[in-house]
Amino acid sequence: MKNKVVIITGGASGIGEATAALFAAEGARVVVSDIQEEKGKAVVERIKKNGGNAAFFKADVSVAEENEALVNFAIETYGKLDIAVNNAGIGGEANKIADMSLEGWHKVISVNLDSLFYGMKYQIPAMQKNGGGSIVNISSILGSVGFMGSAGYVAAKHAALGITKTAALEYSSENIRVNAVGPAFIDTPLLDQLDDDLKQQLVAMHPIGRFGKGKEVAELILWLGSDKASFATGAYYPIDGGYLAR
Ligand code: NAD
Repeated sequence: MKNKVVIITGGASGIGEATAALFAAEGARVVVSDIQEEKGKAVVERIKKNGGNAAFFKADVSVAEENEALVNFAIETYGKLDIAVNNAGIGGEANKIADMSLEGWHKVISVNLDSLFYGMKYQIPAMQKNGGGSIVNISSILGSVGFMGSAGYVAAKHAALGITKTAALEYSSENIRVNAVGPAFIDTPLLDQLDDDLKQQLVAMHPIGRFGKGKEVAELILWLGSDKASFATGAYYPIDGGYLAR
């Protein structure tokens, strides 16, 4: 990872925070981006305290121009873009389809799906100029199975696989690899909206007997981002404690 430049969206918390810390520990120069400015800057400070190199840029991934500004910031700050981790996401409104509000639907689609198109639209030209790169889109186990009360989330995470595969087809010949990661339930603030009973039921759906940790997902993202994954593109990598094995 030495001298590689990486953007991590949603880097202020959870999986993004763990990924930023891991890439920085491996020698990458990390642009931590999020809508949560204070928490994002605190992540950067912790990385620097541990001897790493990082900078914060505030951007809302559901706004196209802010994705463009984020890529420009990475290039102005570190000179190039090697790796992008499109991780920012929300759980969204928890309702069955007939009860889901139109606003709730559009919100989760814009933060979890439009963001992948906007992100890659600006990341890819920067990587083309750099002779290649690696994009890791964070989907979910809910990119391949359904989940009651989360139609918008599930639809966006399934669509994340479609756009990942298509981007890989379009740009593999230019040395740009694009993959999707599918975590099962990971112990992050994203799960704060679930009550304890539901959490216990969900734990039981993981044969490994617990939720995952951000660091465990970060290790897979690191590998996909790195040159060690040079033959990996267009694929979906669940990391799920056995959730999908049933
Ligand atoms: P998290 O809530 O801890 O972190 C998500 C981060 O994204 C937050 O810092 C938040 O501020 C940021 N964010 C939200 N909306 C944004 C926007 N519009 N623009 C920029 N940043 C925004 O959640 P997490 O669990 O670390 O989730 C990270 C990714 O992993 C998400 O895409 C999520 O869907 C996915 N995921 C999480 C789980 C899980 O169980 N935690 C499981 C599968 C997939």
